[in-house]
Amino acid sequence: MTVTVRAPAKINLHLGVGAPRADGFHPLVTVYQAVGLCDDVTAESSPGWLLDVTVPDWMDADAVPVTGDNLVDRAARLLAGHHGIDALASVSVAKAIPVAGGMAGGSADAAAALVALDRLWQLHTSDDDLLALAARLGSDVPFALLGGTALGTGRGELVEPVPDQATWWWVAVPSGEGLSTPAVYRRFDDLTPDAPAEPEGAGAVLLALSTGDPEILAGALHNDLEAAALDLRPDLGDLLELGERCGALRGLVSGSGPTCVFLAESADAARGVAGRLAEHHEVVLVTNGPVAGAHVVTYG
Ligand code: ATP
Repeated sequence: MTVTVRAPAKINLHLGVGAPRADGFHPLVTVYQAVGLCDDVTAESSPGWLLDVTVPDWMDADAVPVTGDNLVDRAARLLAGHHGIDALASVSVAKAIPVAGGMAGGSADAAAALVALDRLWQLHTSDDDLLALAARLGSDVPFALLGGTALGTGRGELVEPVPDQATWWWVAVPSGEGLSTPAVYRRFDDLTPDAPAEPEGAGAVLLALSTGDPEILAGALHNDLEAAALDLRPDLGDLLELGERCGALRGLVSGSGPTCVFLAESADAARGVAGRLAEHHEVVLVTNGPVAGAHVVTYG
C-alpha cells in the first residue's frame, strides 16, 4: 500500500513574541497562513524503516538530515510508540518548501508523516491525539495539520482557525543559506531585553483578514523577529526594499527568516513582482493562501 500526503508551508501574518518563559520557550501570539508551497510525503509498506529525501535543483540537499534526526523519523517513532507498534515503512519526502527558511518545512513534513503513517498502519488515531503528538514534535506542527489561517498561542502549538475568505497572493524569495531559529531568538533576546511577558496581540491582522483587502492586510503585517533576522542578515533588508520597489504592497521576513515574502495586490501583480525580482534573485516563487493542512493526495 502507498499513501501520499501533502503539507503546506506557513507564513506568519502576525508574529508577536514575548519574554522567554520559565521553560525557555518564548510565548507567541501568531496568525499563521498555510500557503501553496507544499512538501509531499509518501509512505509505503516495508519490512524495515527507510527514509529518502528529494529536493528541487535550487535547494541544498545536504541541509536536510536523512538520518534519525529528520523530523519524519521522529514523527514515525512517536506515532508508532503511541500505539505500541514497530515503525516499519519506506518513506520518501519530496521537498519544495525552503529548508531552514522560516516557512516551517520540517514541521510540514512531520505533520504529513503523521497523517501518511496513520493511514498506512491503519491506526485511526483521533484528531485530538494527532494534534497532541504534533505539538510534541514542534511548535509549528499542529498548524501544519490544521492549515487554513489560524491563531497560534502558547509557543505556537495551540491553534484555532480564524475566518479568512479571501485568496492572498504572495511572492517568496528563499535564501541560499538558512538561518537557525534558535539563533534568531537569541538575537531577539539581546535586542529586546524588555520584551513584554504578553506578546503583542493580533487584532490588526484579524481585522484586515475580515476586509479581504490586500492593502489593509499589507499595513497590518507584523513580525517581532524581523529586526533580529535583519541584524543577523542585513542583506535581507535590501531584499525587502527591492521587493517593494518591484511593486509588492509589503515585504516581510517569514517567521525567523531568511525567506522573505511579499504580499501582492492580485495574482497578476504577484507574477509581475516575481518577474522583476527574478532579474536579481535566482529563485522566486509565486504562491497563494490559505490552503488546506496535511491531506491525503494519493492512496492505494
Ligand atoms: P521553523 O521556522 O519551524 O523553526 P524553518 O522553517 O526555519 O523552521 P525547517 O525547514 O523546518 O526550517 O528546518 C529547520 C531545521 O530542521 C533544518 O535546519 C534541518 O536540519 C532540520 N530538519 C529536520 N527534518 C527536516 C525536514 N524534513 N525538512 C527540513 N528540515 C528538517
